[in-house]
Amino acid sequence: MTGYELLIRNARLRDRAGLVDIAVDSGRISAIGDLNVYAEREIDAQGCIVSEPFVIPHLHLCKAYTLSAVGEDALLHYQSDSMTGSSRAIELAREVKKRYSVSWVYENAKRAVSEVVIHGCLAVRGFADVDSLAGLTAVEALLKLRADVGEVVELQVVAFPQEGVVREPDAEELLWRAAEMGCDVMGGIPWIEYAEEDMKRHIDTVFDIATTFDKDVTMLTDDTGDPTLRTTEMLTLETRRRDWAGRVSACHARALALYPMQRLVRLAGLMKTNGVGLVISPHTGSLYAPVRNLTSLGVNVALGQDDIEDAYYPFGRGSMLEIIFLAAHLFRMTDSQSLEHLFNMATFNAAHIMKLNGYGIAVGGEANLIVLDAPTVRESVKNHNPPRYVISRGRIIAESGELKQEIIGLGKH
Ligand SMILES: [Zn+2]
Repeated sequence: MTGYELLIRNARLRDRAGLVDIAVDSGRISAIGDLNVYAEREIDAQGCIVSEPFVIPHLHLCKAYTLSAVGEDALLHYQSDSMTGSSRAIELAREVKKRYSVSWVYENAKRAVSEVVIHGCLAVRGFADVDSLAGLTAVEALLKLRADVGEVVELQVVAFPQEGVVREPDAEELLWRAAEMGCDVMGGIPWIEYAEEDMKRHIDTVFDIATTFDKDVTMLTDDTGDPTLRTTEMLTLETRRRDWAGRVSACHARALALYPMQRLVRLAGLMKTNGVGLVISPHTGSLYAPVRNLTSLGVNVALGQDDIEDAYYPFGRGSMLEIIFLAAHLFRMTDSQSLEHLFNMATFNAAHIMKLNGYGIAVGGEANLIVLDAPTVRESVKNHNPPRYVISRGRIIAESGELKQEIIGLGKH
């Protein structure tokens, strides 16, 4: 009888009734079923859910844990949800970048990725600010982290011109250099520009770089309560013009909540046709894009963490169960079917946006698995405890909120 490296007994998968065993060998799932086999290590899931790991397609990783350095004023401004409030918060958050050094950003981001892993997420799009204050410091720090954690976590680094491209003179040149340095994704924030033609130019510039370097694109669009903003639409139209379908996502798009229905339907149709996904983080503001409408109109909507203890959000620990818990309240999506949908938004929908290869639990696939601390999605969301086990490529890298640091070198803090 063959022995396996790891065997998970009594696992409950979300897509089938009853319990199964999952055998893992050489980092891959070897068998799923009622297995009469041996393994070097056995785990008893005790009927708890075993799921694909969570995926975070939007996280301002270079800003993690900067709240104390920025001060609380930024939060007060951001909470106002007005254009001036959001802009003032960004100004205050900008100041902290004078303190950026590769080692400071690296340590903060490493701590954040550790938290994210502990909470069962194994793929993150980390945004690195690129502007005249941050320069390429954040990019350098996150690229170094990507290399250091690459064995267990897929970290995609986004070069993100937080202060704008047109209004920030150095940003364009820095973005080109960030792409050369090996950033995975080109970011943007067109709504931050002062005029519509500048917003359009912002999008054009980012696409010029993305198409030159064959990179995906993600942009923060219409992130304030102004229904006249239409950068989500501009982004989607540019995706079509550049033939970049399926490679682009928008984040936030709060203004869509205020759109007349006809306009929303037209935009959603465009997004669906051009494979433009949307990442929302409803816990970070009082407005959020209309998730039910967009979903029913065929847009791929995912949940993101957005922030961990920065000028925009004072909480956050990389727990997507926590984000689902908050979203369930905000959206009034508390029935079982809705909770399953929210769970998919933090797993499959997000994996689709990050274009993760081979994502999902299947024989022959990579053994990336989490054993949750409850037998149902509802109870997992209710308690939002860290998973009992987090398994990356067949290795247990975290157990009930504790990182197995000897395995991955992600230090404790
Ligand atoms: Zn954001």
